[in-house]
Amino acid sequence: MRTVATHCPYCALQCGTRLTRERRGVSVRPTDFPVNRGGLCQKGWTAPALLDVADRLRHPLLRRDGELVPVSWETALDTIAARLHAIRAESGPDAVGVFGGGGLTNEKAYLLGKFARLALGTSQIDYNGRFCMSSAAAAGTAAFGLDRGLPFPVTDLGGADVVLLAGANPAETMPPLMQHLRSPDLIVIDPRRTATAEQAALHLQPLPGTDLALALGLVHIAVTDGFSDTAFIRERTQDFDAAWQRAMSWWPERVERVTGVPVSEQRRAVRMLAEAGSAYVLTGRGAEQHSKGADTVAGFINLALALGLPGRAGAGYGCLTGQGNGQGGREHGQKADQLPGYRMITDQAAREHVAEVWGVLPEVLPGPGRSAYELLDALGTSDGPRALLVFGSNPAVSAPRAEHVVSRLTSLDLLVVADFVPSETVELADVVLPVTQWAEEEGTMTNLEGRVLRRRRLQVPPGHARSDLEVLHGLATRLGEPGHRYPTTAREVFDELRRASAGGKADYSGISYQRLDAGEALHWPCPDGEHPGTPRLFLDGFAHADGRARFAAVEHRDAGDVPAEEFPLTATTGRVLAQYQSGAQTRRVAELNDAAPEVFVEVHPDTAARAGLAEGALARVSSSRGSTIAAVRLVPTMRTDTVFLPFHFPGDGRANLLTGDALDPRSRMPEFKVSAVRIEPHREV
Ligand code: SF4
Repeated sequence: MRTVATHCPYCALQCGTRLTRERRGVSVRPTDFPVNRGGLCQKGWTAPALLDVADRLRHPLLRRDGELVPVSWETALDTIAARLHAIRAESGPDAVGVFGGGGLTNEKAYLLGKFARLALGTSQIDYNGRFCMSSAAAAGTAAFGLDRGLPFPVTDLGGADVVLLAGANPAETMPPLMQHLRSPDLIVIDPRRTATAEQAALHLQPLPGTDLALALGLVHIAVTDGFSDTAFIRERTQDFDAAWQRAMSWWPERVERVTGVPVSEQRRAVRMLAEAGSAYVLTGRGAEQHSKGADTVAGFINLALALGLPGRAGAGYGCLTGQGNGQGGREHGQKADQLPGYRMITDQAAREHVAEVWGVLPEVLPGPGRSAYELLDALGTSDGPRALLVFGSNPAVSAPRAEHVVSRLTSLDLLVVADFVPSETVELADVVLPVTQWAEEEGTMTNLEGRVLRRRRLQVPPGHARSDLEVLHGLATRLGEPGHRYPTTAREVFDELRRASAGGKADYSGISYQRLDAGEALHWPCPDGEHPGTPRLFLDGFAHADGRARFAAVEHRDAGDVPAEEFPLTATTGRVLAQYQSGAQTRRVAELNDAAPEVFVEVHPDTAARAGLAEGALARVSSSRGSTIAAVRLVPTMRTDTVFLPFHFPGDGRANLLTGDALDPRSRMPEFKVSAVRIEPHREV
């Protein structure tokens, strides 16, 4: 029998677990870790089943005569290296792209960024976290000078009098979080009456894509009804006047016309927040995944600032990060515009620091590359990458405009995918690299509150699966890099990551495996080995040079898609309790698949009746990009102008067949939450 203390493989809450391996298999127990305090959701309880999925990738695979066939690691890596050599020789280093993932450990994310910049010399690297956290990151950095999902521990939420959740549904996406949210004082903004909204004291139900108008209106009420904290605004912020110039024209009746949220509910929400002794404003993907996602988050930050919440004990603004390492994944250099330590790749001092740690000259480092969707969209085009290496992501299902993305992936000269299950993107690959998963590897993750956690190995991987770190070492050396630049143990990589992050915004230099293994709770920044870490940010000042937070002068604008005659409804997408992300992992766990086996579309009964649809009927939901086939669920609490589809399902059930390529100009976030659609009975042809 062997037991290890580790964390759940799925979402950013990173619930604490104890895994035990006995003769009859692996079992899991929740621990008293602060975020979950002995709780787990359905996904966490069934996580051991992931270790034994029937179609686990065990051998490298190479496409020959159209079929993926098992080959040795040497053959797989030699083949990739030879093709990459040829493509780079013909078309230059940017002809090779890298697509990472927000579920990769800190060590993998760091080494992947280094591999792309040094071994491949490419600027063309980004990751699926662009689809997840980028709007909140852009808005948080602009407002506070630093982006950390929650700048306070999750447990602080338990002491709040009021929490406003804008576009988050933790009752389904991270249920153990709900024990920290007291329902009598919960305000939820969501176009759907979600499981979280059901528990709230107040549910505001705006039309998808109008959250920014609502945020502007709430600021308007806060100021005109005398709830704004004028001393805080004067002493700890800048740019209020510019933000107010925009918010002043969003009087409550206008907001009601645009969003559908009654004036009385707008006023009640502001009053609840303002009269609370302790209040938090939190955003999730519902507010963030828009072509104006960064501005929408900024609108809610403006509200929090107007009420004087951020930078105060027992109050604040935060974002509920989604993916398992959604926080760490955006700190160590797998983003197109960033180097480790959350440094901008265009910053000369940052380039010099990282180049020194890597033992190269700063000129060697490429500049910024394309964002995730732009990278996928450019694949196989005349000036886009001819080869792509995908680690820990399944863009064939999870990217917007999914069928177009599949066509780009299949136009490549070389697609390499490293994963542990045969995802829909693996099925398209020329070479498949079987890699380790959570309980088969060592490493660290950084949860939604910026706390660095140890992932521990319980057992060896099956077959010939290897750690991603070994894969990167094997590829880098074949591409002519010295082997010592690509350590193969997580501890060695983490020690280098610490040096690379030193002095950066996300400073890990004082965090070590030794301290984590001794049980210390370390939130970054932690700049030296004696530093206790920083669970609460901004109490002494915000991270801008003058210590002040910034209001943002934001204005509401239409979504990329506006419902019209041909496509009169708005489709919005999201998650369900039993599935995770593209579903590549959770659809392979029997209990989870039984609980949520297929895509559905939630429709108001009146909308369904007008379309000739009944409960359980198959509907064709169409946008200008394509159609999704989904079973109808009649939901009386849906808005009559809105339908909802979960995005975890493959094939004709991909919700992302509907979504488009409108991007946020600042964060490059695609517009997952708003697609103009029509709905009709599905007829087989
Ligand atoms: Fe895992 Fe998230 Fe569920 Fe916790 S809430 S058990 S971390 S999926």
